[in-house]
Amino acid sequence: MGRGLLLPHAKRLMLFPRPRGFSASAASTREPLHVCVVGSGPAGFYTAEKMLKAHEGVQVDIIDRLPTPFGLVRSGVAPDHPETKIVVNQFSRVAANARCSFFGNVTLGSDVSLAELRGTYDVVVLAYGAESDRSFGIPGENLRGIHSAREFVWWYNGHPDMHNLVPDLQNTDSAVVLGQGNVALDVARILLRCTTKLASTDIAGHALDALKSSTIRKVYLVGRRGPVQAACTAKELREILGLQNVHVCIKEGDLATSPADKEEMRNSRIKRRVHELLSKAATMHKEKNSNDQKELHFVFFRKPTRFLPSEGGSTVGAVELEKTLLKDDAVTGNQVAVGTGEFEDLKCGLVLKSIGYKSLPTEGLPFDNYKGVVPNLRGRVLSSESETTTVEAGLYVVGWLKRGPTGIVATNLHCAEETVCT
Ligand code: NAP
Repeated sequence: MGRGLLLPHAKRLMLFPRPRGFSASAASTREPLHVCVVGSGPAGFYTAEKMLKAHEGVQVDIIDRLPTPFGLVRSGVAPDHPETKIVVNQFSRVAANARCSFFGNVTLGSDVSLAELRGTYDVVVLAYGAESDRSFGIPGENLRGIHSAREFVWWYNGHPDMHNLVPDLQNTDSAVVLGQGNVALDVARILLRCTTKLASTDIAGHALDALKSSTIRKVYLVGRRGPVQAACTAKELREILGLQNVHVCIKEGDLATSPADKEEMRNSRIKRRVHELLSKAATMHKEKNSNDQKELHFVFFRKPTRFLPSEGGSTVGAVELEKTLLKDDAVTGNQVAVGTGEFEDLKCGLVLKSIGYKSLPTEGLPFDNYKGVVPNLRGRVLSSESETTTVEAGLYVVGWLKRGPTGIVATNLHCAEETVCT
């Protein structure tokens, strides 16, 4: 359904302008309750599903700025992970519910304001996620050839905003991915994976064509901390370490563990598993196999300090990295990376910054700029107006906008449950 449908529809809903919550106490009543969910990704659809089940009288309208639903499942999940996308079948059943409507091409902030939505619906749930990126704030970050991983992911998934990205995959043999979370592993894998395998996925046609003629042979995955602190999970790491015809390079010295590392591993099965997998790969890949056409380098204990242009150009030619070591942070209790004052340049023609997504505020919405989330109590938006903390009547938040940009698709199920039950 397209733009323009919302407003007549919204007028009809003005019959029920009284703001209310959708707490469990209201569950199973047949009293009409009109809810608008902003954002049609996993957080939005799980919320709609939970509300439809909890309240027989609820009518849920889901709006999205894109013409198509499913948000991150459509544009964030890697094309070679079809099993993660199966959840759209469940979301389609929610959309087919007679008490649920989807309105695409409706942008909060320009087509409709938050104040208008709150005046129209009993309840507004914000589920529009994190559509921007954290940045380093270091010199050279605007050079050509430097993209956020989100932009690259949107590009290969055919997101309309990144149709014109055109990452240059043909004038260099080296790409640097900054960050070692699962998104970093996704983009590295897409750069390294054999394109005949990618061809059978739902990767965007323009991306497949570009990857087929890519000259990139070496991908460097750079982390500011060590292998014990790598933010990826074991399943995703195992997958990239097992790519065919890819030689994996890990410095054995980087795998040494300090007492603090051992303590971290004792407390986390994932960390133990990640360290085990990296150690095994370091041993297995000592010799280069004659079939290995590409290389994956894990670079630990390095933080970027500057992006350097290629000779005489405005395109990136290298990343200056500072060696780091780990120190205990008394406040957080974590091991943090501190610079040693020793620098080295890593040559490359493409950089993908994969250091986390960032949510954006909208007018009239309390927003914690430091944490990049909407202040909330189990999903109820907290007011920033008064001295004492109060909740904003009828305004809720869910997903990455509520808890920050972490977690898998299923994490949003529990997150939605909490918001709906509040
Ligand atoms: P992430 O897991 O938070 O990883 C961010 C990475 O960036 C970390 O390695 C972090 O290192 C690094 N970083 C952050 N700030 C930095 C800085 N200033 N300088 C250098 N490095 C910096 O984020 P993500 O990879 O974007 O993933 C987001 C969420 O989606 C995660 O929960 C992830 O598991 C999930 N996801 C899951 C899948 C899957 O299950 N297949 C796929 C994609 C995404 P530090 O640890 O040192 O901060």
